[in-house]
This record gives sequence, structure tokens and C-alpha cells, in this order.
Amino acid sequence: MYCSDCGAILQEGDVFCSTCGVKVSPNELNPTTSETQLKPIFVQPDNKVDNLSSRDLAIGHKSEEAQLRIKTQKHSHLCEACGKKLSFTDNLKGARFCKPCKEIEEKKIELAKIAARQLEAQLSVEAHAIIMKFWRSEIEKAEAMRRLGEVFSKAPAAKSFDNMKDETFREIVDEILVDNILSVEEETKLKAIAELLTINFPMLEWNYKDIFVKLFIARINDGRLPIINASNIVLKKNEIAHMAQRASLLKQVNITEYQGGYSGVSFRVMKGVRFSTGGVRGRRVVVGTKMQEDDSGSIVATSQRIVFLGDRKTIEVPYSKLISLEIFEDGIRVHASNRQSAPLFTLENGNTFAAVVNRAAQ
Ligand SMILES: [Zn+2]
Ligand SMILES: [Zn+2]
Repeated sequence: MYCSDCGAILQEGDVFCSTCGVKVSPNELNPTTSETQLKPIFVQPDNKVDNLSSRDLAIGHKSEEAQLRIKTQKHSHLCEACGKKLSFTDNLKGARFCKPCKEIEEKKIELAKIAARQLEAQLSVEAHAIIMKFWRSEIEKAEAMRRLGEVFSKAPAAKSFDNMKDETFREIVDEILVDNILSVEEETKLKAIAELLTINFPMLEWNYKDIFVKLFIARINDGRLPIINASNIVLKKNEIAHMAQRASLLKQVNITEYQGGYSGVSFRVMKGVRFSTGGVRGRRVVVGTKMQEDDSGSIVATSQRIVFLGDRKTIEVPYSKLISLEIFEDGIRVHASNRQSAPLFTLENGNTFAAVVNRAAQ
């Protein structure tokens, strides 16, 4: 017979275990209860009790449970915080702390996380202030770099710097773009700020897509439209191609059919109106069920018109006939006075396309 708590051998008539002092339960002293009838205890696959040595395995006459207890007893660990012996189950689980100490440790970790976040937030505010000083030309770049180095050296963790620089850069960009315009001077300075924050400016399109789109729109609002080489359309005299996106023309559906699910945000192209750098929060054209595609190809915004070049169809809307755009995240519907129906296209980015059209049409 073995002690149910520590697995030590019990003598006939023992009331208490001579090894651990636990009271011996009547079951253990009942000779009719064979050891093999003991219920096998559940052993989790990730604990270490399955690494029994050959010596342990040789103790074949003992029940599995007792063997485990002996094994555990031999490797009994102490709580790292209070030094008390770990309970049988905690020991099996390979716990580092006893139950009360574990709760205290978890609380400590939670508090440390909160403190780290607070410190990060505070350092971000300091970094932000330094960068804005540089933005307003109150300090030189070298001085800004020195001060930022001081601030970031207080970061609570290596990962904090990444969080802080991202957050700070996003805030600065929003502050700079509050007028929805990015001038050449502003862009030069923003590049220097990106450098201060070790952000790779040419890689914005891939690493900070949201910021890239904002800057793209702000540049267009400044009148700096991209110029592309659209070899697939025949440009008119003095016409410049500004943007091309892969696009699909969707099957024309009755106005009443799409009103429920397929309406975007209406945007009227007007003189003097700047497209918001945040774009419009349009919904996606294709929600749930896929709308049927009529034709696919590309849509081009030039200095004079919108042209859809499909495999079968060509649709052209000169800006002089353009009434409004309906903007979706992934699409655009063009309302024009020279067309009875308003064609709906899916494309890569409804906002950037609308921003280009808005500016080019002015
Ligand atoms: Zn015992
Ligand atoms: Zn403890």
C-alpha cells in the first residue's frame, strides 16, 4: 500500500504516512482494494511524467499512480517566490509558483504591462513634441535626432520603439495633412521626419499603406498629379494620363435593385473642392454575393476624361459631362450627363481614383 499523497510505502495499521504525515484513507488500508483498481490519473501530454527512467519503470508492481507520485516526489519543486513545496498537481504541471504566489505574479505582470504602456504613451508624447519643433523649424534635424535618441532610450522594451515610432508618425502625418494638402516643402520635411523615426519613406506604400494613400491624395490636392504612360489608350492633343487601375465593368442593374446594397458615397466634382486625405468611408461594391462582371480591362483618368478600356467595350466620360462619382472602397460609379445609366466599375482603390479625377477635372 502506498500513501495517496506522496506515494511512500505504508505499513499495515499506519494511520498517518510516516513520510509526509498525510492521514491514511481507509481505502489504502483496505486489503481488498487492489492497487490495479486505482483509477488511472489523467496525464497531460505536455508534462514531464512520461519521462520515467528505466529504474522507475522497473518498479512494476506499483500502481501507475503511485509510481507517478514517487517520481514527482523525487523531483518535487519549490515555489520560486515563497519557497514552499509545490502541490502535487502544480508539480506535475511544472509550475514555477504555488497557487497564491501565481496569482500575485500574474497581477505583477499585468501591472508591469500597464506601466510599460503608460511609459510608451508618455515617451510618444515627448517624441511628438520634438518632431513638431523640428517641423516648425525651431530646432535643427541633428538636435531633433539627439533629443529623440534620449527619449527612445527610455523605452521599456525593444518592441516599444516600433509601437512608438508608428504611432508618432501616424499622428504627425495627420497633423500635417489637416488641410488635406502636402506641398513640396512639406514633403521634403516629412521625409526628414521619417528618417528621424527610422521609417523607410520609399517603402511607405508597402509598410504603411494607410499613410501612403493619405499622402498620395494630399499630393494630388496640391496639384501634383502623377503622370503615367498609358500605352493602351490613344491620347488626344495635350492630354495627359494620370492614373490607370485594373477595373471591371459590372452588369447594369436596375437602380431599385442596387439601392439596398450597392450604393456608394456620392461625391460631386467641383472647382475648389479638395478630396479628403482620409478618403470617403465607402463600402465595398461586392458584399457577399459577387456581382456579375460585364467586361474587364482598365480604367484610366486623364487630364480630360475617364476612359474604361475593356476587352469588348470602351466607355468614355469627358469631365465636362461628369456630374458626380459614387465612391466605394473597391469601386466607382460614374454619373454623367451624356449617359442614361451610370456605369459601375470595380477597381483597386476607389478613393485614389476619385481624388485624381476630382483634381484633374478642375
Ligand atoms: Zn505520504
Ligand atoms: Zn509560493
